[in-house]
Amino acid sequence: MKRPSAVKVHVPGVLARLKERIRGREQKLVRGGWQMPLLLLVYPRGAGAVASELEHAYAHALPASGSEVRGLYGDLWRALPALIVVQLRERNPCGCLGHHHPPGTESRLARRLASELGHPVAEIDLAYESIRAWQPEPLASLAAEEAAGRLEPLRLRAALLAVLLHEMEHLAFPERSESEILHRSRTFYRRAMSELVGKELGKDYGIA
Ligand SMILES: [Zn+2]
Ligand SMILES: [Zn+2]
Repeated sequence: MKRPSAVKVHVPGVLARLKERIRGREQKLVRGGWQMPLLLLVYPRGAGAVASELEHAYAHALPASGSEVRGLYGDLWRALPALIVVQLRERNPCGCLGHHHPPGTESRLARRLASELGHPVAEIDLAYESIRAWQPEPLASLAAEEAAGRLEPLRLRAALLAVLLHEMEHLAFPERSESEILHRSRTFYRRAMSELVGKELGKDYGIA
């Protein structure tokens, strides 16, 4: 007997939301260095590796970086609340690498935390697959095989931090212009990559 044909309902976005719901969301609390806000990472279950990378970048790599790198954001920490919710997602429908959520537009989770803690909670989202594919600076002097393999984790680390700090700066200093904030995050990425490559691969990182 022929079964009645199933009615196919395809609503864009529903499948993605449903998948996320089925996979569940995980959370990880990340403590930064001195005076740095706590991060509450919220991410889909399959994104544990990228959450760990961000944890390492924020809790260890950034505090251990030199003053050329860290100093770019020296005035940031005192202008931010003590807790920032960081929503990790694969991609944003708009294609952005990340957003800061201005006061009043935070998720239910961030609003609930703020009322329970009696302290403001800020929120950012980061699109980790878009950040992974992002190449803000062309490579010049590194050999191709290194660019393919050993460089990749360093690039992801620097890029996650660059986008996180970019959005944090928007939250901390809403009056600053996009071009000023973008200029600082490009400089940060370049210096952080140069330092990471020097430390981890013992090579000069040339920018074309
Ligand atoms: Zn966007
Ligand atoms: Zn921006």
